[in-house]
Amino acid sequence: NQTLIEVRNLKKYFYTKKGMLKAVNDISFSINKGETLGIVGESGCGKSTTGRTVLRLVEPTDGEILFEGKNITELSSRQMRYLRRDMQFIFQDPFASLDPRMSIGEIINEPFEVFKLYPKSQREDKVRELMKLVGLSPKLVNAFPHELDGGRRQRVGVARALALNPKFIVCDEPVSALDVSIQAQVLNLLQDLQKKLGLTYMFISHDLSVVRHISDRIAVMYLGKIVEITTSKNIFTNPQHPYTKALLSAIPIPRYGHKRERIILEGDVPSPVNPPQGCIFSARCPFVMDKCRTTPPPFVESGENHQVACHLVSDAMELDSREQGD
Ligand code: SF4
Ligand code: MG
Repeated sequence: NQTLIEVRNLKKYFYTKKGMLKAVNDISFSINKGETLGIVGESGCGKSTTGRTVLRLVEPTDGEILFEGKNITELSSRQMRYLRRDMQFIFQDPFASLDPRMSIGEIINEPFEVFKLYPKSQREDKVRELMKLVGLSPKLVNAFPHELDGGRRQRVGVARALALNPKFIVCDEPVSALDVSIQAQVLNLLQDLQKKLGLTYMFISHDLSVVRHISDRIAVMYLGKIVEITTSKNIFTNPQHPYTKALLSAIPIPRYGHKRERIILEGDVPSPVNPPQGCIFSARCPFVMDKCRTTPPPFVESGENHQVACHLVSDAMELDSREQGD
């Protein structure tokens, strides 16, 4: 397994009137080539900021981001601009930030213009190729965004992201604005494209049931931290962090539902400006112990390809190893 992206101790702080907001609070992870890492958590947990920071669409406060072994936090904006071809972003609504007067063809063509790719005479063919690749009829080349339904609009967003032949794409809630019936189509498209083009994804969603099928591994975020990271299968069959268990409780999946421990969370997510001391989940955790309020739990390897930050888990591991030592 070759690592494409490695993130080390990434922090992104924002200065607000109320104080320092630690949107991303010291997280580390890596993504292998051809893999999809799902990032899941409630709104405000820092998952979108993580995605943007990894692409340096926003500058990290601290930490390292290695792309193919190169630390991109040290690159000048010019070098970064060149690298941006390899690293693209798919938004929840690709048109929210776009000129509604641009046709589909113009939207997909724009990256070619910006990067001066291909002779002008070839660009039209390239645009049509991309449209076919994402399952859009080339007849729509002169249509405008408002004339398309949500699913087709997102296909345009995907085509635009693919225009520069990227290696890595951050997909930020790419299906959240779509009807449930359309969601599966777009997810299938992303998976097909991944296989065909060897893409690597970071797939961000507030919805575990959405990231489940597309992700090889899933990182669960809460208040700027990763609390658990493991394979998609483990998240659903062997979740260890109380917050992961609570997220699972919120989605009814009959196949797992009957044997799953149900945890319903009380209260709201605390402000990231004033996160709890100790374990960041301590204000809402049904299993909270005294030390949880003072000491942050270590991030431990609780199994193969499985890391968790919870005192319950690390205490149990310590007990195990002591018993084995006897
Ligand atoms: Fe709950 Fe304590 Fe574990 Fe945090 S460390 S998740 S508060 S049991
Ligand atoms: Mg978001």
